Amino acid sequence: MNILIMGPAGSGKGTAAKKIVEEFLVAHISTGDMLRENVKENTELGQQAKDYMEAGRLVPDDLINAMVKERLLRDDVKEGFLMDGFPRTLVQAKAFDEITKSIEKPVEIVINLKVDVDTLAGRITGRRICKNCGAIYHIKNAPSKVEGICDVCGNPTIQRPDDTLEQLQVRLSEHAKNTEPVLDYYREKGLVKDIEAAKSADEVWLDIKQAIDTVK
Ligand code: AMP
Repeated sequence: MNILIMGPAGSGKGTAAKKIVEEFLVAHISTGDMLRENVKENTELGQQAKDYMEAGRLVPDDLINAMVKERLLRDDVKEGFLMDGFPRTLVQAKAFDEITKSIEKPVEIVINLKVDVDTLAGRITGRRICKNCGAIYHIKNAPSKVEGICDVCGNPTIQRPDDTLEQLQVRLSEHAKNTEPVLDYYREKGLVKDIEAAKSADEVWLDIKQAIDTVK
């Protein structure tokens, strides 16, 4: 299966992505995670992307497209992929068409997670992630056993520098400006499945699984 998952920051995309990957055994390709890895390793790409990311703005298309193109050449994509956080602009969507054509893996479904702004704000400002292993917590909805410490690896959990209300506003307006046209692009191709995602993670998962099973 070749799947795209879309939804603004706080829509539960990360949690849903993890489940999709486990269930459908596809390669999880998160451009946000790849970029954060590059920033952490201080690569040339990381240095170029860092300021955009900290400001909640989109990293330029050519950098992202090159990164995704290279990633899709790896062996683990054989059984399919879950693209998470990409494409975020029409330029990226069109470049992605070319890439998927060249590897003969067309997008089969676009999962669109829909959540109202107030729910997003609560989710974003309470989100904490493990600096070391990337595990995700929420101070109210899914706290770690010991406050500020990751259950999985025992390292400190932190708030991502872009997980503030101010950055949420920037990211939501970026999302509306750039990503809505991407959704329309895939809607015209008849690939989009809208999922009401302000519900519990378990309920959302059932809807997602059903949507993917129907196109499988
Ligand atoms: P995410 O974890 O998906 O919210 O991504 C974190 C940040 O990485 C975003 O706010 C952007 O600065 C950058 N980023 C991730 N994916 C893309 C993309 N497809 N295009 C441009 N910038 C991206």
